[in-house]
Amino acid sequence: MNAFVRVYAKEALEIADRLDQERMEGNPIGKLHGVIIGIKDVLCYKDHPLTAASRILEGFNPLYNATAVEWLLKEGAIILGHLNCDEFAMGSSNENSVYGRVKNALDPGLVPGGSSGGSAVAIQAGLCMVSLGSDTGGSVRQPADFCGVIGFKPSYGRVSRYGLIAYASSFDQIGVFGRSIPDISVVAGVISGFDPKDSTSSRRAVPEYTEGLDGPGPKYRIAVLKEALDHPSLDPEIRDRIRGFVADLRSNGHLVEEISFDLLDFIVPAYYILTTAEASSNLARFDGVRYGRRTSDPQAPYPAFYAKTRSEGFGKEVKRRILLGTFVLSSGYYDAYFTRAQQVRKILASRTRLIFNKFDVILSPTVPTTAFRAGEKISDPVAMYLADLYTVYANLVGIPGISLPLFRHSNGMPFGVQVMTNQFQELPLFKLSCNLMQQYKSYEIPAL
Ligand code: GLN
Repeated sequence: MNAFVRVYAKEALEIADRLDQERMEGNPIGKLHGVIIGIKDVLCYKDHPLTAASRILEGFNPLYNATAVEWLLKEGAIILGHLNCDEFAMGSSNENSVYGRVKNALDPGLVPGGSSGGSAVAIQAGLCMVSLGSDTGGSVRQPADFCGVIGFKPSYGRVSRYGLIAYASSFDQIGVFGRSIPDISVVAGVISGFDPKDSTSSRRAVPEYTEGLDGPGPKYRIAVLKEALDHPSLDPEIRDRIRGFVADLRSNGHLVEEISFDLLDFIVPAYYILTTAEASSNLARFDGVRYGRRTSDPQAPYPAFYAKTRSEGFGKEVKRRILLGTFVLSSGYYDAYFTRAQQVRKILASRTRLIFNKFDVILSPTVPTTAFRAGEKISDPVAMYLADLYTVYANLVGIPGISLPLFRHSNGMPFGVQVMTNQFQELPLFKLSCNLMQQYKSYEIPAL
């Protein structure tokens, strides 16, 4: 399936032996003692190569651990390897990787989603217990949906991004893939919290996510975005199933209302303007001097040296985004694109506050379709970008979101529902999710 790009097998066994030893000696054990975890190829693991699935980072070895990785290790986790993804986390199908595409384990002709496709397939195929991905516009929730597993993105600022290769810094969050809410919540608890090394990380205390998950739980006030369900790109079967599900929630005592959300069509354009702008700046550091691979032409003079290194090192989609980002920031276009997109983001944030004044939860499909065929959208970037219709919203406004694999389509593939709560309301998100996973068993995640 091409899910792992590097497996640290020998080392994993050695760590496992050491953990066994420590436990047998009666030492206290960590919250993740012996838990096998795969991490996306954008997270620093000290002295292990890291490439962001790009040629340009060939030969790069991080000198430190990402904070999330450091905290997992401290609790006794075993990092099994790095997982394939779209280059620099840019993509929705995991076809933009220097290692080649990742295959969906349910049907190798289909994509697993992206950009954290390897992290989703590693859970889908039972290659590890939980995995980490990153989510800038859906890269955890969308592949989770396509693969039939759970994918969780925390609130912006909840998890330190120190040691995560930056794509769009005001959107990026590290997220978790797993098979159950208890698994996800324990890992989310371990990686959450204030980190002085990331100035955007929040000082808010992290509640105990694993407590009180079982049981019927309270009744919630749930908003369903009408325009999301009526959107022409939404597969009609997904629409019907989600509407049926909503009716069911209502009959179970939740207060569910369909509310109008006329901003939906602005979301994808605003997202792609702002993220490409941020990416064009973030990716300037990959120049062949500070990191990774240099041009194969050592004689290239300055400044051709930079152009050659970057032309050889970046793939097509990454180049497209650097160009787009540079364009929307350039003088004469800045106000027409970048400033307007920021205005859209502001309006979205205030509209979201209004929604959460009345509701606890926003519910939507995770993706408009089930997993598509490899090659189907690769030459049509706009079609690919539209697959992110429902997921980029949570990143634009910084709220947490989760995709729960509750449904199976008549085409045989799983699909999910997306549950979102207000900023830093991860606890009710997990409670409701746990409740829904126990109650709706229409899609069974294969056992490990
Ligand atoms: N598919 C989206 C993009 O290409 C999301 C990527 C992500 O979340 N890293 O930008």
